[in-house]
Amino acid sequence: MTWVYDFAEGSKDQKDLLGGKGANLAEMTNLGLPVPPGFTISTETCRAYLALKETGEGDEPEGLSEEVTEHLASLEEAMGKKLGDAEDPLLVSVRSGAKFSMPGMMETVLNVGLNDTSVGGLAARSDSERFAQDSYRRLLQMFGGTVLHVDSELFSDALDEAKRAKGTESDLDLDADDLRGVVETFKQIIKDQTGRDFPQDPREQMDLAIRAVFDSWNTDRARLYRRQERIPEDLGTAVNVQAMVFGNFGMDSGSGVAFTRDPASGAQGEYGDYLQNAQGEDVVAGIRNTVSLADMAEIDRQSHDDLMTIMTRLERHYRDMCDIEFTVERGKLWMLQTRVGKRTPEAAFRIAVHMVDEGMIQMDEAVLRVTGDQLAQLMFPRFDESAERTLLAKGMNASPGAAVGKAVFDSDTAVEWADRGEDVILVRKETNPDDLRGMVAARGILTSRGGKTSHAAVVARGMGRTCVCGAESLDVDHKAREFRVRDGETIREGDVISIDGTTGEVFAGAVPVADSVVVRHFEGEKIDDDLAQAVARIMAHADGARRLRVRTNADTPDDAARARRFGAQGIGLCRTEHMFLGERRELVERLIVAEDEAGVEAALDELLPLQRQDFTEILEAMDGLPVTIRLLDPPLHEFLPDLTDLSVEVALAEERGQVDEHARTLLTHVRRLHEQNPMLGLRGVRLGIQIPGLFRMQARAIAEAAADRMDAHGTPRPEIMVPLVASVRELEIVRAEIERQVAEVEEERGVKLDISIGTMIELPRAAFLANRIAKAADFFSFGTNDLTQMAWGFSRDDVEASFFSRYFEHGIFDVSPFESLDQLGVGGMVEMGTKKGRKTKPDLKVGVCGEHGGDPRSVHFFDEVGLTYVSCSPFRVPVARLEAGRSVL
Ligand code: ADP
Ligand code: MG
Ligand code: MG
Repeated sequence: MTWVYDFAEGSKDQKDLLGGKGANLAEMTNLGLPVPPGFTISTETCRAYLALKETGEGDEPEGLSEEVTEHLASLEEAMGKKLGDAEDPLLVSVRSGAKFSMPGMMETVLNVGLNDTSVGGLAARSDSERFAQDSYRRLLQMFGGTVLHVDSELFSDALDEAKRAKGTESDLDLDADDLRGVVETFKQIIKDQTGRDFPQDPREQMDLAIRAVFDSWNTDRARLYRRQERIPEDLGTAVNVQAMVFGNFGMDSGSGVAFTRDPASGAQGEYGDYLQNAQGEDVVAGIRNTVSLADMAEIDRQSHDDLMTIMTRLERHYRDMCDIEFTVERGKLWMLQTRVGKRTPEAAFRIAVHMVDEGMIQMDEAVLRVTGDQLAQLMFPRFDESAERTLLAKGMNASPGAAVGKAVFDSDTAVEWADRGEDVILVRKETNPDDLRGMVAARGILTSRGGKTSHAAVVARGMGRTCVCGAESLDVDHKAREFRVRDGETIREGDVISIDGTTGEVFAGAVPVADSVVVRHFEGEKIDDDLAQAVARIMAHADGARRLRVRTNADTPDDAARARRFGAQGIGLCRTEHMFLGERRELVERLIVAEDEAGVEAALDELLPLQRQDFTEILEAMDGLPVTIRLLDPPLHEFLPDLTDLSVEVALAEERGQVDEHARTLLTHVRRLHEQNPMLGLRGVRLGIQIPGLFRMQARAIAEAAADRMDAHGTPRPEIMVPLVASVRELEIVRAEIERQVAEVEEERGVKLDISIGTMIELPRAAFLANRIAKAADFFSFGTNDLTQMAWGFSRDDVEASFFSRYFEHGIFDVSPFESLDQLGVGGMVEMGTKKGRKTKPDLKVGVCGEHGGDPRSVHFFDEVGLTYVSCSPFRVPVARLEAGRSVL
């Protein structure tokens, strides 16, 4: 087993083994770029080390120490110095680097090898006592915090104190003597906090730092981050040991970060920050003001030009936007890190098409460079930037969107106010599982504590709720039901605020919300905007490539028309339940309380023309495209008054001596229809069999609507879908009735109608017996919402707010199975049902309706198991189109 590799031995394709940082350091080394030499201890080593630690069977993988010694020896030879040598010390950095970058999660220690003696050697060799002491205090600070777990604030406070004593704000004003004092203080802090002296042996420092990096893989925040980013738990991190170069040598030195394009907008041109006389993280830590790369050219033309040349070269080599860390040591440029850079969604789309135009990549690849999630983010409304806005605070952009509502400070109020139709923003110091109900009810969530991996942030993203977290300048007082802003303003319960989950900004009052340009483009508006054009080109290519068709779930003509503009190729699910609400509720009541056949027929006769009109309008909006109409699905009592409310009403009336016969009869029926488990009760096809007139009426309304559309020279393509079928016999019974209705209408109207009849597969039994059910079905549509409930045996409406957060904690699932398909279990049933159905009917059309149809991961799964189409809400249609394209490319 080999544990350690020289940079020269690796390549960028070995991220699994060497981690991202190590693989790219190797790649740059082999490109001949100026990279300080070093070696990488593999992720395998980390896994072996952690396994030993867990079982207690050993301290360290066998042979590791020897290999490190060997590689260190060749590094010392290459550098002509020995680690921590008293006269001329070699110093190294010990850097973490996992396969996927986990910013701020893991640890790095610089200047390893300095001690009370070698600091003198460094000072003599570099001719700068100040530089040597500065390097030493940095080692103590990083080593103390990272390896010895001393509270890092103790160090930063002590440093601040030294600056204060000197009467300065800048670390640059501290001279060698001041820094020597800081070093002594830091050593004392370490001693006080750990009961031990800072280890003086350079090799011991290095070994401890290596272990600290391995251990950092398992910290709580690293685990939480991985769960949230869906990074597997068992990868481990690599460790890079690299010769130090020094940006803190003086004003002819410095360190910086750069991007080969603007990571925010995607615009061409180099972007970056440079800080003179600085080391490591200084440049991003905001300790002093940085300068732009253009200004760096004024300071050090040669290093700047070298950097530009290297950046161009890296971008051509990686064929993508890169981000870079570099250091200048006395006028010489060194490359310390590169990787394909993270970018905002809008930058992702722009960069992808720019790179096609520059001949760097093909369109296929451009489509793979963007994701449905990014597209979804671009479709969120944004606050109108031209509107006048009063900024109250800025926190972290935890979950995108623009939310406006009244501030509330507890879950009960959030739920209560939301129930009466008000938009609310839940404001908390931080959230915990007790706040879930409030979070569900709110438009957005604002917290003053916690980062992007806090409870609020993780849960909000999971629910697609807008969230700004960690707005630390806000003083939230939930008892007083108010929060105070730093400048003294107070926002009380009921005051309107606006939060921007894309930027992290919090505004007073209602900021007007503007539609996204991408949505306006989808809506057919001609807009001169290069982002909209980039999206259009990518979508066109994805559409050309994809196999999977994309339909929409739409119950109204407006939704249908909008989805069609968004590229929907038909309706996969038109629910009919809302058509029975509002004024029509009374007709449903009459249907239910009818004493005899005649009463039932009379109620149905009144519903028929209304339903026909509903269907005609939807068929018109989707003219020429298939429209799958689902017959009535929910339990009937959903259309009736609440049992308790009605009982109370009747009792009170009777106490007053009033007798309301109607209310009394209704109550009898409501009692009769009341169910303990309505989701498992009289609904779907069972309703059709129990009250045959209902489905008959709906089938006739659909057939008549189709005939009307034909009279109007349209091309209606209705498909009738029967919900909640478990047995082929159920479907046969209902199907016979539907066919009779269609035949009658054809006869009456003298037309030939083309109406297929299919079923939802949303019960495990149906998936299991799909080969039999297919005999009576022209098509299948997997109702993955119900199928998920029935497969897991839990109700969506209840569980998400009750025990799901525990399930996430325990890793039972990493995302709600209602949000992203449980591919193993529920997906297994989809796959089996499809296979079995097509065994009976090889050409069986199979779709999926339910939220999963618009979820990127699920779309890929549905494509892979060969479904004909997915159907999703109108706003997810472009997302599904893009992902269906990405799935085949
Ligand atoms: P992170 O993954 O958090 O960026 P890094 O390992 O990249 O951590 O290191 C932290 C900082 O230290 C970076 O700014 C990096 O450029 C700098 N650094 C790391 N190794 C060296 C080195 N050998 N010489 C000089 N600076 C270094
Ligand atoms: Mg880095
Ligand atoms: Mg269902």
